[in-house]
Amino acid sequence: AAKQRGRARVEVFTSELRSHALNKLSIESELRAAIREGELVVHYQPIVRLDTAEVVAYEALVRWQHPNRGLLLPEEFIEVCEEANLVVPLGAFVITEACEFIAAHPEFTGRVFVNVSTRQIGSADLTRVVTHALDATGIDPHRLGLEITESGMLIATQAAKSDLDGLTALGVDLIIDDFGTGYSALSSVLLNPVSGLKLAREFTLRLGDRGTGDRISTTVATLTRSLHMSGVIEGVESEAQRAIAREHGWQLGQGFLFGHAKPAHELDLRGPSSVADPHEGPVPSAG
Ligand code: C2E
Ligand code: MG
Ligand code: MG
Ligand code: MG
Repeated sequence: AAKQRGRARVEVFTSELRSHALNKLSIESELRAAIREGELVVHYQPIVRLDTAEVVAYEALVRWQHPNRGLLLPEEFIEVCEEANLVVPLGAFVITEACEFIAAHPEFTGRVFVNVSTRQIGSADLTRVVTHALDATGIDPHRLGLEITESGMLIATQAAKSDLDGLTALGVDLIIDDFGTGYSALSSVLLNPVSGLKLAREFTLRLGDRGTGDRISTTVATLTRSLHMSGVIEGVESEAQRAIAREHGWQLGQGFLFGHAKPAHELDLRGPSSVADPHEGPVPSAG
């Protein structure tokens, strides 16, 4: 009986493994087709001034408009992408889209941040892909920021180092994403030409605890300022969090309170000065 149970367990295990492998394989080939056939789309989430809610930048976030499964979020396919070596074409797609977005919307004068997977750094193509997208669209490189996690900043290979230096030489900003959640957070700042950081949402969730959460937020805001970097606090969902973040010294924020990621055509890209207030009468003329 024990032997039979053993065999049954092995069979279950094997078939689970097989379906997992099959699933990965089919997602992989579907993803290849998706990239080819334009099923990937980029949505944009605002990054705002916490005091006025003025949009200063957008983060480009990839989605997969799947023909049967609907709109898929990155958590459902980025990992497969990385394992299947598809991050290079995926990354190239998002970077190109972001540059074209900037070029196509002269009414928007802010910046766009693009996520770069650790696997893309040092893969030889990253600097070339960015160079190509900048050349093709003619945008000012300073309008593009690349979000890289701490682990991405700390790849010790020469290829990775030359990618990060190469991108900085192009004039593209490097920003640490999810700051505080990786290893060696401070050496990622120390060892790289980093222009900003984004405090991870898990710290924002702890705002107002009158303890460790508040102290970390205050300390990182101070660190950011004293290193002359730009800081964004992520995952701001409530007015209470916004108020506390401001007290702690954060000037820029991102989160559902200010807006979810949306397709470019659904964004209001007019600058704050051109937004007419329907409750205001005609502007009185001087004198
Ligand atoms: P991330 O770079 O930290 O992006 C922020 C994520 O938090 C986004 O999820 C965004 O929708 C979500 N978010 C923003 N504000 C709030 C909030 O107030 N509350 C909550 N609960 N969530 C909020 P999304 O779009 O699902 O992306 C997840 C992750 O996938 C990103 O985390 C990023 O690491 C990765 N990713 C997204 N787009 C790309 C891409 O084009 N390339 C690569 N390599 N990775 C990407
Ligand atoms: Mg990001
Ligand atoms: Mg983040
Ligand atoms: Mg994240």
